[in-house]
Amino acid sequence: SDGRVSPAEAIEWFARQGHDFLAITDHNIVTPLPDGAPLTLIPGSEISAHRGDVDYHVVALGITKMPQTHDSDPQAIINAVNAAGGVAIIAHPYWHDHTLEDLRQLRDHVGIEIFNTSCWLEIQKGHSLVHWDLLLRRGHHAWGFATDDCHWRIPDYGKGWVMVRAPENTPEAILAALRAGHFYASMGPEIHDVALDGREVTVRCSPARSVYVTGGYNYCPNAVHAWDGKPLTEVTVQLHPRQTYFRVEVVDFEGRSAWTQPVWVEPAS
Ligand SMILES: [Zn+2]
Repeated sequence: SDGRVSPAEAIEWFARQGHDFLAITDHNIVTPLPDGAPLTLIPGSEISAHRGDVDYHVVALGITKMPQTHDSDPQAIINAVNAAGGVAIIAHPYWHDHTLEDLRQLRDHVGIEIFNTSCWLEIQKGHSLVHWDLLLRRGHHAWGFATDDCHWRIPDYGKGWVMVRAPENTPEAILAALRAGHFYASMGPEIHDVALDGREVTVRCSPARSVYVTGGYNYCPNAVHAWDGKPLTEVTVQLHPRQTYFRVEVVDFEGRSAWTQPVWVEPAS
């Protein structure tokens, strides 16, 4: 492990916190996983890449050995991860100071890290929501991931994760759900349901201070706030006729967010 604790210690900690699965993604190696772990383990790596003088880290999940490429170009690495049956995610765009153009060049990854605990606590560049929205507004169907990326030198663990809807707790089912966008990202809040009826969106969630139904058009302040201090657990809003997609963000009273994946909708007639 390139973290301060061993893989076994990390596995034990996340299992105790109630996590159902964990991916170990040391840099540029696939760390062998122990048998008999108390949670589902997904093999992977975080692979360094660059194009010109722009660096990228590609998170590769579900690969059992390093992909067969000597090319350090990010697209070549994404392609090799896909060829190996893995899932490729672009790590922490804000930490890299990626521009929109840096990201728009890449294809066939499943999405980007929109929250990364380690990047947040180390240099306050953990949130890459701007990168996400800019990609979405330009038609990239990129899913948003929250991760710890913990190295255990500071308390950078247990603050960002994904909640997956999968028929079973196996690596294959979890990876399929990540590919399909059947998950949401969270720093704490739970999103129990998002129902779409026509252009009416109903969100059910753990007690929240604010619920946003944002995206696709910015003159539609579809936000509900608990100004009176009474926590929100169910919110219904109408999409603006010009919203072609939306995503839900739930914020709790500690300022922690959870983010659904974007949902594309038919234009209002
Ligand atoms: Zn990284």
